[in-house]
Amino acid sequence: MKVKFWGVRGSVPTPWKEAVEVGGNTSCVQVTPDNGQLIILDAGTGLRFLGEHLNATEPNPIEGHLLLSHAHWDHIQGFPFFMPAYKPGNTFTLYGATRARKPLEAIMAGQMEAPYFPIQMTQMAARLNFVDLEEETFWIQDLKVTTCSFKHPGGVFGFRLEQNGQVLVFATDMEYSADDLDPRLIAFAQDADLLIYDAQYTPEEFEQKRGWGHSTHLAAARLGQLANVKRVMLYHHDPSHNDQMLEAMEQEAQAIYGPCQLAKEGLVIDTRTA
Ligand SMILES: [Zn+2]
Ligand SMILES: [Zn+2]
Repeated sequence: MKVKFWGVRGSVPTPWKEAVEVGGNTSCVQVTPDNGQLIILDAGTGLRFLGEHLNATEPNPIEGHLLLSHAHWDHIQGFPFFMPAYKPGNTFTLYGATRARKPLEAIMAGQMEAPYFPIQMTQMAARLNFVDLEEETFWIQDLKVTTCSFKHPGGVFGFRLEQNGQVLVFATDMEYSADDLDPRLIAFAQDADLLIYDAQYTPEEFEQKRGWGHSTHLAAARLGQLANVKRVMLYHHDPSHNDQMLEAMEQEAQAIYGPCQLAKEGLVIDTRTA
């Protein structure tokens, strides 16, 4: 599987000159399995640039699958600006949970309703399918997808993607410290070739921000080590952390578990060489 990071920031877009190296767009990762399908993890503001890229490079019609961890702004805000969704003939299937008693379709339409947005989701001319997920395993052609719920306000899904012996685990927005990792999470990430994990806080920030729903870079490293992960991507960077701070956090994580690396906007990784 090929992985490209289009947005790596957490909480809120961060257009900031001290953070351009790592990038300011919010959560969005493109996954290209061996059969070339278009799989997108989260629809944060990075999705806008992915959409422009697809329009410029992909022959029409485009068919894609969007797996949404949850519906906090930084994970869905790019969708109204995803131009391929406005093109007739394209087809996108969105997968996510019913949250706060709202099915996924109502959640996605809700962020585009007046007075929040000028255009309604019904004006998107592509065919949009919505799949409400439980904790389950399902298939997108030969890509096996497993969901698991973790600790985050309002709920969140981790996604485990498996194809041809390659394993990618996407686990962002969850509140665990390095010495308090959920055994279910360790099992979920077990033997992954690539783990993308919430590394938002330092341990000091974690204590101050209990209840906000995020982990530390040290938890990411410890999780990678306990689960025997080949490579750990530190993800969902705090909007107050500049490039210098993030590089220091990367080094601290590597001191615990060598194969840790900062997820940066534009970075491409093949799980086979992870
Ligand atoms: Zn988030
Ligand atoms: Zn969240």
